[in-house]
Amino acid sequence: MIIKSGASISGYGSGKAFRLCRGNVTGTHVMSIDEAFDAERERLSALSGESDIFQAHLEILEDPMLRDSVEEHISGGESPLEAVASACSEIVSMFSTIDDEYLRARVDDVKDVCRNLECRLAGKSSGVLDIPDGAVVVADEVFPSDTSRMDLSKVSAFVTRKGSVTSHVCIIAGARGIPVALGVDIDKIAEGDYVIVNGDASEVAVNPSEDELQKFEECRRVNEGELEIIREAVEYRGHIVNVYGNAGSVEDVAKAIAAGADGIGLFRTEFVFMGSDKYPTEEEQFAIYREAALLCGDRPLTIRTMDIGGDKALPYLSMEPEDNPFLGVRGIRLCLANPDLFKIQLKAILRAGTFGNVRILIPMVTSVGEILRVREIIEECKAELSSEGKEFAAGIPLGAMVETPASVFAGASIAEKVDFFSIGTNDLTQYIMAADRGNSGVSQLYNPKNPAVKNAVGMVVSNAHNAGIKAGVCGEAASDPEYAEFLVETGIDSLSISAPRLIPVIKHLIRK
Ligand code: PEP
Ligand code: MG
Repeated sequence: MIIKSGASISGYGSGKAFRLCRGNVTGTHVMSIDEAFDAERERLSALSGESDIFQAHLEILEDPMLRDSVEEHISGGESPLEAVASACSEIVSMFSTIDDEYLRARVDDVKDVCRNLECRLAGKSSGVLDIPDGAVVVADEVFPSDTSRMDLSKVSAFVTRKGSVTSHVCIIAGARGIPVALGVDIDKIAEGDYVIVNGDASEVAVNPSEDELQKFEECRRVNEGELEIIREAVEYRGHIVNVYGNAGSVEDVAKAIAAGADGIGLFRTEFVFMGSDKYPTEEEQFAIYREAALLCGDRPLTIRTMDIGGDKALPYLSMEPEDNPFLGVRGIRLCLANPDLFKIQLKAILRAGTFGNVRILIPMVTSVGEILRVREIIEECKAELSSEGKEFAAGIPLGAMVETPASVFAGASIAEKVDFFSIGTNDLTQYIMAADRGNSGVSQLYNPKNPAVKNAVGMVVSNAHNAGIKAGVCGEAASDPEYAEFLVETGIDSLSISAPRLIPVIKHLIRK
């Protein structure tokens, strides 16, 4: 059976379906409530030494409040699955109203614990950890917290019902060459079905016939045919257009460089933070950034300061619940509100700067004032590093992400205060079009090709060039050959690409 997907991230992957259990679990229970609690207790106890998250989950599981509430609902006539769901929503609504930041931050942990209990009861794997080798992960939606708890080297493809190509699962998967099929009717796929994802044709084959299997194989072989890797910068009508790679880890940096990237246009450091169970120290961050800088050599390594907020949370950073997280304390706003955390990261970047061609990039900029404040904090960091006797790169370039309408309209003044612009078309599109980047219901509006977004890009490029600085694009649109053509014609100075295998494709295209 072939299912058409709504959108996809290119590439080929196949394997047995692994249904990631999240959201409401329905159906009948296959074990008793005692067995479900015991199984989860055993799993969490085994993991509790690995991370504080699992220790916290174990405490919630063992808290009599949860167990008593479940028992009460069962005595009231509910099935074990219904009882866990009811107990969960009761505890969640109770925690949400309590005037205690710590307890409010535990709401997601309670949901996680209850979801895993429900999955156990329904005989479905809770799916956040033990993914079988080569699996195709099938889910309603995959959140950043899910990917951070998966061993992605075991995932051969993702198939989801919801999400858009700029959702973070797609960004992470694209960087690793893992195909993603979105907008798929996942009810047609059962646990253990053999699934093939052809991300280039937006097709998913479930338990394919011999013929279907052969067709997929042919497409894969044509697609994966060798393309010459271009190691030097390419020109379009005499203007150099650098083709960089996007990265979320040191491994991604290595892959992009191997694919001929002229450097890294966007190193998303929040993915480094999300993979850790505590905020990494200055030394830990320094070691990562230094390794990435060494891999890049003379090529630029653009390190974006953490872009937490929106749909990206850190388990160890408590944040006030927000009605509109994408319009809330996100990116530079969060860093300026937590200068101590911000300074740890800036100091690590400044130190790594002595090992290569490192640049700092600030996300979610809306005003000149934010840039001036960042510059002040960088100066404080330099003074501290000097007094600690640590070496650092004093003249490290500072760039602004242009991904809010405010940064487009205030672009002429912001350009005077920064060394480069990097346009984040993923967010710029959602904020200009007022269309959530992860909501498939508004995906027809969420389009970087809309003239409103294209005009904004044109304004950013001229503001940058008038101020004598360069402008690049690091959003996913840069990887779309048609859009890349528009960008180079607009005079863009660089494109930063998520999937390493597309780097030679885009370089060949520009050269033509
Ligand atoms: C963007 O918004 O285009 C971008 C590159 O940043 P992120 O996708 O990480 O929000
Ligand atoms: Mg962004």
